[in-house]
Amino acid sequence: MGSWEKSLADPYKVGQADTTYFAHTSPMETPAASTSTSVSQPINPGEMAKFVERVNRLSIGKSQNIRKGEPWFEDGNIVLITTREDSTAFRVHRGVLSRQSEIFNDMFQMPQSLTDVTATYEGCLVVNMHDLPSELSNLIKALYDGPTFSNNHPNGFFYLAGILRLATKYFIEHLRQSCIQYLRQTWPSTLKGHDDMVELALSSPTVNDLTFPYVHPLHVLNLARENNVNSIIPSALYFLSLYSLSGILHADHPKLLLEHPSKPSSMLSPSDVMLYSLMYQHRLQIMENFIREFCESRATQPKCGAPGMSLCRKGFTKLVSQLYRSCYLRTGPLHFILQAIHKINHGGVVCEFCSLEFFQSAERLRQEIWDELPTVAQLPPWNRLD
Ligand SMILES: [Zn+2]
Repeated sequence: MGSWEKSLADPYKVGQADTTYFAHTSPMETPAASTSTSVSQPINPGEMAKFVERVNRLSIGKSQNIRKGEPWFEDGNIVLITTREDSTAFRVHRGVLSRQSEIFNDMFQMPQSLTDVTATYEGCLVVNMHDLPSELSNLIKALYDGPTFSNNHPNGFFYLAGILRLATKYFIEHLRQSCIQYLRQTWPSTLKGHDDMVELALSSPTVNDLTFPYVHPLHVLNLARENNVNSIIPSALYFLSLYSLSGILHADHPKLLLEHPSKPSSMLSPSDVMLYSLMYQHRLQIMENFIREFCESRATQPKCGAPGMSLCRKGFTKLVSQLYRSCYLRTGPLHFILQAIHKINHGGVVCEFCSLEFFQSAERLRQEIWDELPTVAQLPPWNRLD
C-alpha cells in the first residue's frame, strides 16, 4: 500500500479501532448500551437510561484529566478528545465539521464505544481523535476561520505541516489545496517561482540564526512524501542536493534540530538517498556542461563570428575563468547561469549580438533544466504533478 493509500485508509482504521458500529440502529437517536463488552444488540430504553447515567457519572471523573482546548464553543454539540500526548477536548459544531469532510461526517454518525467512559462530556457526544492536540486545534480553527499561513518563521512551516497532515487524513480537499498552493510559493513548480524564491532567500533576514527558507528541504521532502504532494518534490530535492549527504545523514543541521510536535521526519529514506544522489550528480553535470561546452564554445568561436582575439572572444574567456572560480559543489546551477547572463548582459564585454544570443540561449537552457527536474526525481512532468 502506497503512502497516499495508507493516509487515506487511516481515518477508517481509526474509526474501526475505536468505534463500535451499530448495524440496526441510528446511533444518535438510539445509542444502544450495555454494561457488557458486547454491544451489538439493540438495548431497550430502560437499560439505555441506566447506561447514560453510568456513562455521565464515569465521564465526570474522567473529565478531570481532560484539558479543555481551543476552540471550545459553549454552544457546540460534539466534543472531540485527542488520545495522543494528552487528552485535550474541543467542543465544536457537528454540522460545521461534517460539511467540510466526509470522514468527519461518517465518524460523527457513529457513536464511540459505549464501554468507553468518555462517551459523553458535558452532555455532548464524544469522538476520540488519534491526532496531536496542537494539530487538531489548528485544523479546527482553520476550518472555522481559515488557515493563517506564514513563511517568515520556522513555526510557519510546522503549522502548515500539521494542517496538511490532517486535511489529507480527513479528506478536506480545499484545505489540502490551500496548503499545497502555499508550499509552492517557496518550493515552486515554475522557473520564475524558483528565481523569485532565490531572490527572497538572498534578501530575507536571518531568524534565530536561520536563513530563509526557515525550513530544511529534507523536512519539506518528507512532508511531501508523507502526504503525497508530488508537485513540491522536484524543487525540494533540487535544494536538498545543495547540502552534503554526510550532513543530511547526521541530521545535525540547526534547521533539522528545531523542536516542534508537527516536525516531519529528519531521516532521508533509502529511496530518497538514491534520488538525492542522482540529483546531486545531475546538478554537477549541468555545471560542467554549462562552463565547458556552453560558455567555452563561445570563447573559442563567438556566435557573431568575430575573428582572432576580438572583444567577444576575450569577453567569453573572461566569463569562463570567472565561472570556474565561483563554481562550488554547493552551487545551484539555475541561479549560477542567471548570474552568468547578468555578467554578459551588463558587463559590456561582448557585442550586442553575442549578448542577446547568450541571453536567449542561456534562458532556454535554464528552462530545459527546470523542465527536466521531475524526471530526475523519477516523477511525471510538471504539468502532470498535482
Ligand atoms: Zn560578438
